[in-house]
Amino acid sequence: MDYEAFFAGHLRRLHDEGRYRVFAELERIAGAFPRARLHREGEAPRDVTVWCSNDYLAMGQHPAVIEAMQAAIGAQGSGAGGTRNISGTNTLHAALERELAQLHEKDAALVFTSGYVANETTLQTLGAMLPGCELYSDSFNHASMIAGIRHSGAVRRIFRHNDVGHLEELLAAADPAAPKIVAFESVYSMDGDVSPIGEICRVAHRHGALTYLDEVHAVGMYGARGAGVAERDGVLAEVDIVQGTLAKAFGVVGGYIAASAATIDFVRSCGAGFIFTTSLPPAIAAAALASVRHVSAHPELRVRHQERAATLKRRLSAAGLPVMPSVTHIVPVSVDDAALCKQASDLLLDRHSIYVQPINYPTVPRGTERLRLTPTPLHSDEDMTRLVSALKDVWQTLGLQGGLGRRAAAE
Ligand SMILES: *Cc1c(COP(=O)(O)O)cnc(C)c1O
Repeated sequence: MDYEAFFAGHLRRLHDEGRYRVFAELERIAGAFPRARLHREGEAPRDVTVWCSNDYLAMGQHPAVIEAMQAAIGAQGSGAGGTRNISGTNTLHAALERELAQLHEKDAALVFTSGYVANETTLQTLGAMLPGCELYSDSFNHASMIAGIRHSGAVRRIFRHNDVGHLEELLAAADPAAPKIVAFESVYSMDGDVSPIGEICRVAHRHGALTYLDEVHAVGMYGARGAGVAERDGVLAEVDIVQGTLAKAFGVVGGYIAASAATIDFVRSCGAGFIFTTSLPPAIAAAALASVRHVSAHPELRVRHQERAATLKRRLSAAGLPVMPSVTHIVPVSVDDAALCKQASDLLLDRHSIYVQPINYPTVPRGTERLRLTPTPLHSDEDMTRLVSALKDVWQTLGLQGGLGRRAAAE
């Protein structure tokens, strides 16, 4: 096998399809969000406005978070010193887990090195160890849940996205005695739609299934205390296992689950992705803890965030741009072609110093390529004015004028 030729051939196909991934190299500037400095080979660094960050509330640069992290580094140093089992459990991990359990009104919580690892480890562990387990998975579920479900070796059944009737049909046809888990998300991150959590949980429980909810794109941003859409909808207790990230609205890094005491103890005791890896640095836990406390205590952040998103959607629509029908803070604009999507992103950056990463297959289905905008409380009216006029220019340049994206036509 000519390995080099194989790799090069695959990469050439990605280039040809316009979906070769080019990373924008950014230098973040604490206190200047959403501005960052773009570094490119052969060019002087320049400031750009970031419109695609998952640091949804700009907590990654919040003074309370920075101070907590700096203080913990000064007091405890850099690394945790081990896995959780062997000298790597810190008082700050324990405090963070108590805080997260409280946030979600569960007995206990468990912190992982990332949200990806939390999903993969939990679903893999439960699916493999519950005898004869069947996993019911929403067709739009994130890659990390799919990985956990696949690796568990459990029977996998996929229900159509947000289709409670289809889920019920699948559950009704199953062996009533088999243990089951229904895994889904609250906010779907590429379309910005929301699942009917209460209904899905009612159907799942009627058929004796556990419910597993990924609230990665909702924690910090929905509900009175920022516990997510389950809190907003008044169904926290219906969710058996909630999973979240410390990396998006909380602006740090790490992932977690919160559930009953026995569930958490079980995953703690049996989850390979929890056991066999060094725990997060104490300073990360300190920063995450400060962020969760701050965000939870400041509902006005959530109000401002929603207002910014609504304003941006309104202004894009008014400008005739094909904004997709999101009901959340995620604002996708249809392009529906991989090469054009990449070109639109390049033009925004080169001509307008606006950074929006193109979203192509396999993150979204082919033919539904898009620009995914994430307004934060720190994006100003003036930022929006410049974004809308830049998008209009790009749409005109590429012949996308009139907003004739497929999704827009269906809207
Ligand atoms: C980002 C993401 C994850 C993974 O979270 P990380 O903390 O970034 O690893 C899990 N689920 C969904 C839906 C995500 O978008």
